[in-house]
Amino acid sequence: MGKTHSDILIHGGGPVALACAAWCLQKFPEAKITLLDRNPINDADLAAADSRGIALSHGSKILLDTIHAWPTECADIHRVHVSQAGRFGRALMTREELHQDALGHIVRYRDIHLALRKALRAIQVNSPNFLWEHIQNSNDHVDHSAQCIVHAEGGLFKTQDWVESGRDYGQSALVGLVEVENAQPHQAWERFTAEGPLAVLPSHYGPHILNLVWCGSPESSAHRLQLSDAEFLASLQNEFGSRIGRFLKIQDRRLYELGLNYRKQITRDNEVWIGNAAQTLHPVAGQGLNLGLRDAFLLSEKLVGLFANAAQEPSPAQIQETLESYAQSRKVDRTTTIGLTDFMARIFTSNLAPVVLARGLALSALQWLPPVKTALARQMMFGRR
Ligand SMILES: Cc1cc2nc3c(=O)[nH]c(=O)nc-3n(C[C@H](O)[C@H](O)[C@H](O)COP(=O)(O)OP(=O)(O)OC[C@H]3O[C@@H](n4cnc5c(N)ncnc54)[C@H](O)[C@@H]3O)c2cc1C
Repeated sequence: MGKTHSDILIHGGGPVALACAAWCLQKFPEAKITLLDRNPINDADLAAADSRGIALSHGSKILLDTIHAWPTECADIHRVHVSQAGRFGRALMTREELHQDALGHIVRYRDIHLALRKALRAIQVNSPNFLWEHIQNSNDHVDHSAQCIVHAEGGLFKTQDWVESGRDYGQSALVGLVEVENAQPHQAWERFTAEGPLAVLPSHYGPHILNLVWCGSPESSAHRLQLSDAEFLASLQNEFGSRIGRFLKIQDRRLYELGLNYRKQITRDNEVWIGNAAQTLHPVAGQGLNLGLRDAFLLSEKLVGLFANAAQEPSPAQIQETLESYAQSRKVDRTTTIGLTDFMARIFTSNLAPVVLARGLALSALQWLPPVKTALARQMMFGRR
């Protein structure tokens, strides 16, 4: 097989890798970039792929709009209702109090993936030095060398071939699409149950079809996956209550293991790790992809700054310096987002009486202290830059 040499070699073909390549090429079309993508070349072969609903922040929408990669099918969130099953404490956040058009948007993973593939193909037309190679299996060996290597291989908790710092919460998420009797359009619900968070989020299918993310112990979640539809709906109704009427139908149930796995160092010599390849988070706060897109955007700015302005090939020392400067610039956002998500995953999973009490108080404080609520919502929507 052949041999290639690029300025930038990106491993991965998920949203973060595609976005990183697209932002680099949009700013610097001459960039010598190779993208090694493990996904099939035809979009049709991804059709049955991951349909879980992902909450993207308004900040992510603004970023994706810059490369015309915002999926056409999405549902906006105007209100989020947070509560504890059977206990005191609740908070309501609305777009009006935060002066935003929407608090967030729910999009299927596969639609984000496809929209980014389409956006990158459009950018590729004007990028003479861009090579997008689909590697069908790990035995396909092409000798690739590059000045700088970006790792965006992503992955889910417990499926990654690296484990560094983190935590196993002993939780799984059961996701699916649920039809309900009486939903209010654009309303999201996050309810903290004895076993973990249960989120019911809008979908683009219409006001009565909602995305379900139900976290629980791996045993309960595996059991729920096996239940008949009628048994499942009854159990869900029991846990969620009657705020949105009866649960009528469930489809496309899938299970994901949840945990935190993150790298303390995200650069080494000429290599850098972004997205889930750098940090894999619990979905309780809906932050994983949002953080990964911010990684990709800021890395693209640093790489373009280096390669587009260099009169000659940058030296290894300049590359290392650029990547270290990138890592430094991501420190606050990464640390805050990882820390906040880990904190939420832990306090919203504990059944210890003092924690339950503190949780109720925290939710009440959120409700009654608008500046705290606004600060938290802003962090979730835009991160720290
Ligand atoms: C149940 C659940 C709900 C979630 N909800 C939210 C949410 O609401 N909001 C949010 O922001 N995030 C959410 N997330 C997190 C989000 O899914 C991830 O953060 C996001 O998918 C990371 O994108 P990525 O491109 O880094 O990795 P991935 O999405 O894992 O993509 C990696 C890609 O790289 C390819 N690949 C792997 N190895 C190689 C290789 N060696 N060479 C080439 N290609 C390779 C894979 O085939 C894959 O396509 C959720 C996660 C889960 C599990």
